[in-house]
Amino acid sequence: MQIDNQIFDLIQEEKERQLNGLELIASENFVSDDVMRAQGSILTNKYAEGYPGKRYYGGCEVVDVIEQIAIDRAKELFGAEYVNVQPHSGSQANTAVYAACLKPGDTVLGFDLSHGGHLTHGSPVNFSGKLYNPVFYGVVKETGIIDYDHLAAQAKEHKPKLIIAGASAYSRDIDFKKFREVADSVGAILMADISHPAGLIAKGILNDPIPHCHIVTTTTHKTLRGPRGGMIMIGKDFDNPFGETLKNGNPKKMSTLINSSVFPGNQGGPLEHVIAAKAVAFGEALTDEFLEYQLQVKANAAEMAKEFVARGYDIISGGTDNHCMLIDLRNKNISGKDAEIALGKADITVNKNMVPFDDKSPFVTSGIRIGTAAITTRGLEEEDMKAVVNFIDEAIINAANEDALHKIGERVAHMMSARRLFVM
Ligand code: PLP
Repeated sequence: MQIDNQIFDLIQEEKERQLNGLELIASENFVSDDVMRAQGSILTNKYAEGYPGKRYYGGCEVVDVIEQIAIDRAKELFGAEYVNVQPHSGSQANTAVYAACLKPGDTVLGFDLSHGGHLTHGSPVNFSGKLYNPVFYGVVKETGIIDYDHLAAQAKEHKPKLIIAGASAYSRDIDFKKFREVADSVGAILMADISHPAGLIAKGILNDPIPHCHIVTTTTHKTLRGPRGGMIMIGKDFDNPFGETLKNGNPKKMSTLINSSVFPGNQGGPLEHVIAAKAVAFGEALTDEFLEYQLQVKANAAEMAKEFVARGYDIISGGTDNHCMLIDLRNKNISGKDAEIALGKADITVNKNMVPFDDKSPFVTSGIRIGTAAITTRGLEEEDMKAVVNFIDEAIINAANEDALHKIGERVAHMMSARRLFVM
């Protein structure tokens, strides 16, 4: 067997980076060995366009069973009547929902990217802002909490066909019931994008969107701790309110529209190796251990936010209900970009992030976003959070001192070396 040393040496290098550093990117996690084994399996060889029992290729008997198990486990995990596990990513899940619900030019009301939303919620640089007509709601400046009055006013003024509840950088629980009231008041479809807090939601730690939202999308690789990918769910199937009908004249079910929007609308062959890994991750998420894990993720984030506040850091909204927090660094006289670079030199990985009402560009930013999903998988607990915040604070204070940053990195590596992961 010939081994591609160039690539496998680099994978080893990346593995060491992941093992020795403090991984605080809020959208990342470390999957189990079983998830990796499924994803790295021979299932990658198989074409299976279509859905279980209705494929356009032969030889799908085994992958049919695997995909159905993934669907059934996701239904059980989230209490959904319909699940599509084929989207290759969170963005593709959202693309498929938009295409199922909207026509080009239709109005979408989403969370402002600079207030914590995602590119796919209407950003002008994304398909969602190019193909559709995006309008936005944001947070209240003084509190950092979603401005539900602004949401209602924007809905009333712009009459969107689709409203998006969900965020990439928002540390508070979302009131999906309130969102639904607003959606109903203007006849809009309500979609929740729970990519970030999906694991916490699955275990009942945060508000459940399923009873309130028409459609729920998620990534599978953040707090849910599965392989990189997307998923679409419907709590209770419903007829498309915007009139598309079946040949017999009956309105099309939204599940039918979404299935055909994913395939053949937006994707070709599903990634059955990733779907198998999703099934494994959902199986893990159904266990009591996963509840313990999610409670620890939340407890770690709460403790970390407390430590930051004690050191004079400005956390947007003053704290967190979930796995993440957004820190406004303006009172520390450092940009998000420079903080990200300095922390990187100390083997602490975060991402720069716009803060609400930011006066800096997205390439510079005034803030950083931090999450606890990955370090909690590595086994860190509340009592470790003081040390983690200490490392970050020291690195920010010593941002221009390469030597000090390197020394912090050594201490980080020492702490994390005791917490090995990945046996593969
Ligand atoms: N939706 C939200 C809220 C996200 O935070 C993200 C990713 O960060 C996505 C969608 C897109 O997911 P992906 O990167 O898999 O396309």
